[in-house]
Amino acid sequence: MTFSIHGLAVGGGIAIGRAVVVAASRVNVAHYFIEPGDVREEIERIRCARDVVIDEIHRMQESILLMGPKDAPHELKALLDVHLMLLQDEELVKGVKDAITDRLYNAEWALLTQLEVISRQFDEMEDEYLRERKADLEQIVEKLLRVMQGQTNATMGKLSALVQRKPAQSTQDGLDVSLVLVAHDLSPADMLEFKQGIFTGFVTDVGGKTSHTAIVARSMGIPAVVGARASSQLVRQDDWIIIDGDAGVVVVDPSPTILAEYQLKQRQFIQNRLQLSDVRDLPAVTLDGQVIHLLANIERPDDTAAAMASGAVGVGLFRSEFLFMGRLDQLPDEDEQYQAYRLAVEGMQGLPVTIRTVDVGADKPLDGSLKLESHLNPALGLRAIRWSLTDPPMFLTQLRAILRAAAHGPVKMLIPMLAHLNEIRQTRALLAQAKLELEQSGQPFGEIELGAMIEIPAAALTLKVFLKYFDFLSIGTNDLIQYTLAIDRADESVSHLYDPAHPAVLRLVADTIAEGLAQGKEVSVCGEMAGDVNMTRLLLGLGLRSFSMHPSQILTVKQAVLNADVGQLQSWAQTVLAHEEPATLLAG
Ligand code: PEP
Ligand code: MG
Repeated sequence: MTFSIHGLAVGGGIAIGRAVVVAASRVNVAHYFIEPGDVREEIERIRCARDVVIDEIHRMQESILLMGPKDAPHELKALLDVHLMLLQDEELVKGVKDAITDRLYNAEWALLTQLEVISRQFDEMEDEYLRERKADLEQIVEKLLRVMQGQTNATMGKLSALVQRKPAQSTQDGLDVSLVLVAHDLSPADMLEFKQGIFTGFVTDVGGKTSHTAIVARSMGIPAVVGARASSQLVRQDDWIIIDGDAGVVVVDPSPTILAEYQLKQRQFIQNRLQLSDVRDLPAVTLDGQVIHLLANIERPDDTAAAMASGAVGVGLFRSEFLFMGRLDQLPDEDEQYQAYRLAVEGMQGLPVTIRTVDVGADKPLDGSLKLESHLNPALGLRAIRWSLTDPPMFLTQLRAILRAAAHGPVKMLIPMLAHLNEIRQTRALLAQAKLELEQSGQPFGEIELGAMIEIPAAALTLKVFLKYFDFLSIGTNDLIQYTLAIDRADESVSHLYDPAHPAVLRLVADTIAEGLAQGKEVSVCGEMAGDVNMTRLLLGLGLRSFSMHPSQILTVKQAVLNADVGQLQSWAQTVLAHEEPATLLAG
C-alpha cells in the first residue's frame, strides 16, 4: 500500500530505489557489494564467525557445569541455550546466505538485513516471551559482527577502501536497482563515510535542515530527507521508496502512477542540471557588471575535485573538523594535517583555500558517534574555538600545519564561534607562537589572512572589535540563526522555527555586510544561506559579493547572479529588511 512520510527537505532531487534500513548503532558497519567470485569466501567469513561464537557459548556452558548445578544461575543457562538455538536458526542462516549469493551483499550487510527482517517478525508476535527474544537475536548479531570486525581489523585498509567502493546499483534479481539508506540517525562522520558510496539517497528519522548530517548529505548532491520521524520503523527492508529531496517527502511502495510521475520529475531534474552546466565556465558577473565570488565548502581535501569541477573560484570553508572526527583516541598530528591541507591547496591549483580551525562539539562529537556531548546544552558548550583554546598544544599543532600548507598556495585561516575579545587575543597570541616555532625549527611556511566567523549574535553586535583584529569576516548563518532564534539546528521538533528570513537574522546579516564593507574588509557568507537560491538576490542587494556553498549548489546560484541587477536590488533589499514578514517578499 502506498503511503508517504513527510520530513525536511535537504535537496538533491529525486531518488527511487530499494530501502536498506539500518539500525542506528550499526550504520558504521561496512556496506559494499562483493564480486560474484567472492560469494563462497564471504559465506565462509560468516560461518567462521558463527563457529567462534558457538565455541564461546559452549565454553561458558562448560564453566557453568563446573560450578555445579546449585551455583549455576538458571537464567544464564537458559539464555545460552536460546543463543545457541538462534545461531542455528534456519531462517537467519538461509536469509544471510541468500543476501550474499543473490544480492552480492558483504557478510555484515547480509547479516544486518536478515536481522531487520526477523526483528520485525518478533515485533509482531503476540507472545511476550517470544517477542522479548528479539533482544537475544540482536545480541547474537552484535557478537557475530564483533568477531567479523576482528577479522577485518587485520585488513583495516581494505575495509575503508571497500566502504568507498562504488557500484551505485545492485544487480538484484538480475536488474539494476538503486539503493537508498533509511536510518534512525546518522552522525556527520557516518554520512561522510558514505560519500561516493553505494547509496543514491538518504532518509533519517531525526535531524534538522542545517544539522551537520544534512550538510554533508547536501554536499553529496544526492536526494536526502531528514527529520522524517519513524521512517526507519515504517519502511521495511527492500521496500520500494521514492525520496523527494526537494519537497522533503518519502513515498513508500509507490503505485505505478505515482512512480511514473516521480520518474518524470527525476528526468526533469537531471535535464535541468545538464542545462545548468552551460553556465559553468561563465564568470559570475551580474547584469550591471558586479563580479561575484562563488566559493566552495568542503569537508575533505579530495572534495576540491568537485569544487574545481563546479567552477568555484576558491574554497570559502574547509571544515577541518572532519579530519578530527572519530579520532578521539589519536588526533591527527601536525604532519598528517599538513598533508591534508596541502592536498587541498594543491587541488585548488592556485585558487585560495580558507581553512577553518577545528569546530567540534554539539552535533559534531569528536568520537564520531551519534550521542551528543553529555553537557546539558551541547550547542552552547565547549565547541569550536572554545574547545581549541582549552588545549593549546593541540591548537598550536593545527595552526602550524595550516601555516606550513600556506607555503604551497594562497591560504586563509578562519576561526569559528568567537564572541569575546579575550578569545581573539588568545587566538592571535597562539598564532604568533606557532609562527615563531616554525621559524625556530626552520620549517617553511606561508603568510595567511586571518578571518573570523560571525555566527554568534554577540559577534555581530560588536563587529568593530572584529574588524580591528581580522582581515576578513565570514558569516556562519547556520549558527547565527540557531543562536539568534534560540533553536537547536539539529532538532527537528523545532525546525519550523528555524527561519533564515526572520527580521532579526536579516538585520544581523545586513549590518555585518554593511559594516565590513565600510571598513574595506571582505565579507562572505558560508552558511547554508549562501547556497539557498531564494536568498541570492537579497544578499546581493545587501552588498554581499562572496558566497561559499556546496559545489553542487554553485551553478544554480550562478544562474541567479547572472540574471541579477544589483543596482535595482539595493532598494528592494532595504524594503525586505524593513518588512515584518520578509519571507513573503523573498519567494520566487
Ligand atoms: C555556520 O554556522 O553557518 C557554518 C558555516 O559553520 P557550521 O555549519 O560548520 O557550524
Ligand atoms: Mg557554525
